[in-house]
Formats: sequence, structure tokens, C-alpha cells
Amino acid sequence: MAINSLSDLLAEGVEGRGVLVRSDLNVPLDDNGNITDPGRIIASVPTLKALAEAGAKVVVTAHLGRPKGEPDPKFSLAPVAAALSEQLGRHVQLAGDVVGTDALARAEGLTDGDVLLLENIRFDARETSKDDAERLALAKALAGLVEGADGTPGAFVSDGFGVVHRKQASVYDVATLLPHYAGTLVATEVKVLEQLTSAGERPYAVVLGGSKVSDKLAVIENLATKADSIVIGGGMCFTFLAAQGVSVGSSLLQEEMLDTCRHLLEKYGDVIHLPVDIVAADRFAADANTETVAADQIPDGKMGLDIGPESVKRFAALLSNAKTVFWNGPMGVFEFEAFAAGTKGVAEAIIGATGKGAFSVVGGGDSAAAVRLLGLPEDGFSHISTGGGASLEYLEGKTLPGIDVLES
Ligand code: ADP
Ligand code: MG
Repeated sequence: MAINSLSDLLAEGVEGRGVLVRSDLNVPLDDNGNITDPGRIIASVPTLKALAEAGAKVVVTAHLGRPKGEPDPKFSLAPVAAALSEQLGRHVQLAGDVVGTDALARAEGLTDGDVLLLENIRFDARETSKDDAERLALAKALAGLVEGADGTPGAFVSDGFGVVHRKQASVYDVATLLPHYAGTLVATEVKVLEQLTSAGERPYAVVLGGSKVSDKLAVIENLATKADSIVIGGGMCFTFLAAQGVSVGSSLLQEEMLDTCRHLLEKYGDVIHLPVDIVAADRFAADANTETVAADQIPDGKMGLDIGPESVKRFAALLSNAKTVFWNGPMGVFEFEAFAAGTKGVAEAIIGATGKGAFSVVGGGDSAAAVRLLGLPEDGFSHISTGGGASLEYLEGKTLPGIDVLES
């Protein structure tokens, strides 16, 4: 069954109706509680704006960080409420609790077009409970906040793409209780992911990097039969290099994954491309001593922190004629300037391909952060995904509970 969209809900008319929106407002904060990257807040605005402008009584629920199932001022959504007010151009009130007396009183007091943000949903342990009844009880309380005074049910809009792979009360259970719709963010992400897993335009190149090979093995397995090339860099390339019998010094290595990598190389050796040179450092630091070496010549005691220029050239050549590109995971420790060239070079090659008409998608929080940190144009890519884990699970071929539930 098709998923109902925000425009379906708007067409029904929402004036005066309570609408619960699950957004992903999980932004990074510095030690002083300042938001360091408002990307997810900005991405949540279109859905909230459309609902508020249409006169809905909007109740937003979201999480921040990993509080331990009880209120913790360190994880209050207060800074998020302020930033969201600014981005929305209208005041967003923050409830003092999740579904308690303050939330209830504020929800009852909403007038058309008002926006109320509930406190961090993970202050309530039932949100992430494995017990179906506990989650359902919280979902019922959430649904109660958008119920009309005459008992008419509110509506639920799922817009937190970053959490749709979680079977949680505010993501999954609440959709079983209320008429449900995909927000613009979720709808866009699903469309993009469908394009990456169905017959997109070829050649189709997948670029994988980042720290852990274990995070991405299932994606390699699932996309190896769909993509024409899978380019591997970042910390994860060393387990593949080691699987080929190469000595990788003190580079990141997941020994328990060696067999799997060997197996993948045997099966998909003609699709998988590994770096041919590596920037090796004497320690993990911005000012480490570095040398560029062949990928099979990493000296003992040195660690590979970026792919080398020859690898960038080869990867860029593969990417230059691609028509579909999915990139997840930086090619090196881009946070240090000395190890940012690989990520930058590959990103520029993807931007180049996009300029020639390729459909390109960036997934993963750190990859998206790298684009911004390296000063690359965000609109140089067709789509920058907001949900790392969710998009990876989709690309692994898994069912996402928060999407599945919208289809019924
Ligand atoms: P994403 O969030 O885009 O999915 P990951 O979380 O998988 O990416 O990985 C990002 C991290 O990988 C970055 O912090 C980066 O510094 C690190 N990384 C990349 N290359 C290496 C390397 N060669 N050694 C150690 N860490 C690396
Ligand atoms: Mg990450």
C-alpha cells in the first residue's frame, strides 16, 4: 500500500486539528550546550511550517542525545526550541515534560497554528522499551495530546527519518493508533533510497569509508550485485587490505572481520576497488609526521589516516562517468587538515559527476559534516541524507519499522 503524504493530510484540512509530528532534532551540542550544526532542525522546518500555516495545532516530539530514560537537564530540548523558533519564524513553546501535566495543559491551550515541542521523548523510558505494552502506553499518551476536545482523533506525521529504523513509541507505536502520514523529509528520503536500490541509471558507483567495516559490510553485500563499482577508503579499507595479506601497520583493523572481507573480495573482487596508496602517520594527531606510501608498503608502527593522491585519481576516474552515486563515510580523518585531501578529492569528483547529470546521494552524519567542514557546496550533490543508520539499514535490504508502519 502506498504511504499517505503530508499533502494528503493538508488536502483533508487540518485547521484546528491536533497533529503530532515526530521530528529528528538530534543536533550536536558543544560543552556549553550550543548547537554546533543545526542541519537537522533546518531539515525539519518544511513539514512543521506547512502544518502551522495550514492552522494545525502542532505538537512536536523528538529526542536529543542518550538520556537514561529519565529527565536530565543536560539533554533538555531548550536550545533546540529556541533554534527551531528562529528557523520557523514563529514561537515554539517547550513543554516542561514529555506527556505530563505541563505537556497536557499546553496541548489543551494550543490555538490554530501554534507549535508545541514536548521535552526530550527519551526522558521517558517507555520510548525505547522492548515491552510492547509499555511503548503502547506512551504512544497512547502522545495520541491523547492531539485528540480534539470532542474526542476526534488527531493525526500523526512521521518526519524523523533518522529514527525510522527504530521500533520506538514515538516512531512506530503511535502510528498504529492515529491516521498517519509521511512528512516531506521522510517521503523524500524514501524516494531517494528507492532510487538507489532499484534500477537506477548506470554506471552506479558506491563510495564507502568511515571508521568501522562492520557497520557497512551488509551494505556491500546488498549493493555489490546492483552497483558497477564499490570504492572503499577510510578506516575500513585496512581490514580489506589486510584480508589480501598486506601488512597495515597500526592502522585501524577489525580482525574479526578479516574472513568476511576475504569472502567479499573473492565474490565481488571485480566490483570492489581498494586504495593503491595511503597517507601514513606516526600517530593519530593533526600535526603527526606523515608520508605517502603504496598501500602494500605501510611501515610497521605507522597508521593510515587517509587515502593517497593516486587512489583519489583512480577513484575520481571511476566516479567521473557514473550516473548514480551513493557515498557514505569519509575517506580519511578529514577532521585533521593533513588527512582531509582524500575525502575532499572524492567529494569533488562526485560533485563533478553530479554537474554532468549524475544522481548523487551523501549518507551518514560524518560525511555530511565533512561536506560542510571542507567548504564544499551542499547543492553540489543531488541529496544529502539526514539519517545515517536509517539509510544504511534500508540499503542493507532491511525493513524499517517506522516506514513499514506507515504503509498499513
Ligand atoms: P558516517 O557518519 O558518514 O557514516 P562513520 O561514522 O562511519 O561515517 O565514520 C566517520 C569517521 O571515520 C570520521 O570521524 C573519520 O575521522 C573516521 N576515519 C576515516 N578514515 C579513518 C582512518 N583511516 N582511520 C581512523 N579513522 C578514520
Ligand atoms: Mg558517523
